[in-house]
Order: sequence, then structure tokens, then C-alpha cells
Amino acid sequence: MAAAAAANPNQPAALAEEGEFSKLNEGIAHFYDTSSGVWEKIWGEHMHHGYYDPGLPLRAAFTVNHVDAQVRMIEESLKWAGIPDEGEHKPKKIIDVGCGIGGSSRHLARKYGAEVIGITLSPHQARRATSITSAAGLSSKVSFQVADARNQPFPDNHFDFVWAMESGEHMPDKEKFMAELVRVTKPGGQILIVTWCHRELCAGEESLNPKEQKLLKKVCDAYYLPAWCSPSKYLSLAHTMGLKDVKSDDWTEYITLFWPAVIFSALSLRGMVGLCKSGWTTIKGALAMSQMVKGYKSGLIKFALITAHKPIHES
Ligand code: SAH
Repeated sequence: MAAAAAANPNQPAALAEEGEFSKLNEGIAHFYDTSSGVWEKIWGEHMHHGYYDPGLPLRAAFTVNHVDAQVRMIEESLKWAGIPDEGEHKPKKIIDVGCGIGGSSRHLARKYGAEVIGITLSPHQARRATSITSAAGLSSKVSFQVADARNQPFPDNHFDFVWAMESGEHMPDKEKFMAELVRVTKPGGQILIVTWCHRELCAGEESLNPKEQKLLKKVCDAYYLPAWCSPSKYLSLAHTMGLKDVKSDDWTEYITLFWPAVIFSALSLRGMVGLCKSGWTTIKGALAMSQMVKGYKSGLIKFALITAHKPIHES
């Protein structure tokens, strides 16, 4: 991004940066427009990691039910964040930020009887999410639109629960992203972000080492991700923004079976045919899957959860 700003000395840096961001958004939209169909055929409605018992052998990737593991991920995340499922404090109005084809949105609507709005950059996903939701009889509760999480078309203080499952890693400006999540949250409401991060830097380190940076660059190129951050970046933003009950956790040990399972499914006949039909962007994504396995194994990539409340009274 800095390089892009330097390339045109007549353009203000902020504008150059926004130009880069909108190019990134176009890439993300194209990636999900072209890859969501094959994902849905093989994996179903959830486009996020599953939650597995830690320490399972690799061969379990062939035998466990991965959709159950994905639903378990949603349930365990809600439990960890302490979202009440009964009483007056259970969520009534939820935003699903980066909703994919709406798997979480429908789950949350059913679980809480809540009204849910899902946003995505991909028109294909918004259409598909709407049609699955209608077939499920949930259209009166759940709706979808194409919108940017960093510039949401909603008023201030609108949702009592903000859910962002594996979308934060796509956001180029974490400060703007968090500020927008906070803006749309009602006072007393809660934010839950489940996202890919890089490890914390050690004392004396100023950046990741070149080998680690090279690995992350390959992942970024394949999945349309901007620069990564560590979980503490989210924590410090949450504190700076005056959020309360801020906490985070590292669930890397619960997701290790996921990428091997995705790789096995891509190598199946159905996976291969689907990949070929989806085109180069999706194939590039498939080729980068082994980098994710390496990144998690080496401790470079972390599967992080961050939650916080928006205070009822500004302090
Ligand atoms: N949360 C979903 C999908 C995860 S895939 C699930 O768990 O099933 C990542 C999602 O983030 C995609 O739907 C993508 O369109 C969305 N996304 C990425 N950047 C975004 C942005 N700036 N604004 C809105 N959605 C975004």
C-alpha cells in the first residue's frame, strides 16, 4: 500500500490507499463469486473452520462429520463469548459481518429467534444466501445485502450482537473495521470476532521473519487478504475504543484437522471437477491450502477469538 502511494506522488496517500482497498474488495468479491459454488457443493452452507477435539489423529479427517464440526464451532464460540440464549438479554437484532452464504445467519436466527442481516462483498453469495433462506422459511427474519463491513449502510447503535466469523482477515484497515463494528453496536451490545491472525511478536522482534512473511504473502495472494495482524492488535483497538469485558483466546489446537480435510476434499474427483469448472482464482486458492497447514503447524498462524461489550454509558 505504501508502495502504491509512492508510485503516484500527485495523489494524496489516503486516496491512494482507498484505491488499493477498493481493488482488494473487487478481488474478494470475484474470489467468492467464483469459488462459493464449489465450496457449497462439497462442504455445504458454512464457509469457516470446524471445531475438533484436540489431538485427533490425521486419519480422523476422513471419518469425522465436518458440517457438525462447523456447527460446533459456532456453538462453542457463542458459549465462549457468553452470549445468553435465554431471557431478556438474548440477542434480538444481529449483524453477520462477512456472511458467506448465510450459514451462521440462519443458525443464529433459529437459535435466538432473532432478526439477522448478513453482509458480504459477493453478489453471488448474497443471492444464494437469500434463496437458501427463503427455502428454509426464514425470509421474514433473515436478509442479506452486498455491503462493505468498513462502511456499513446501517445507523449507529443498531445491533445488539455483531458476529464476524472469519471475515476480519480480509479487512485492510483493522481500525476502521473495528470502529464500524463499534458504531453499529447498541450500547450494552456485544461484538464477537473469530479470525486468522499471525503470532505475537517476541520481545525484541520488530516484525515476522522473512520466511514467515513469504508464507503469509502466498496466503494473501491466493485468498485476497491484506497485511495480517496479531490478536493483540484487536485487543488494543478494543481498549482504545473504550470497549468493556475485552477478552481473547487462541483456538489453533481445535482446528488442526480442518485444512487437511479441505485438501482431501479438493483431491477427490468431485473436488477436482469443481475446481476446474470454477477457474483459476479458485485453483490458486486450492494450491495455497498447504501454506495454511504449514502456517498453523509452525505457530505462525493463529485462530483467534476476540469479544467485547460496548459500554452502556460512554466513559
Ligand atoms: N462468515 C461466513 C463466511 C466466511 S468467508 C461463514 O462463516 O460461513 C469470508 C466472508 O467475508 C465472505 O462472505 C466475504 O464476502 C466477506 N467479506 C470480506 N471482506 C468483506 C468486507 N470488506 N465487507 C463485507 N464482507 C466482506
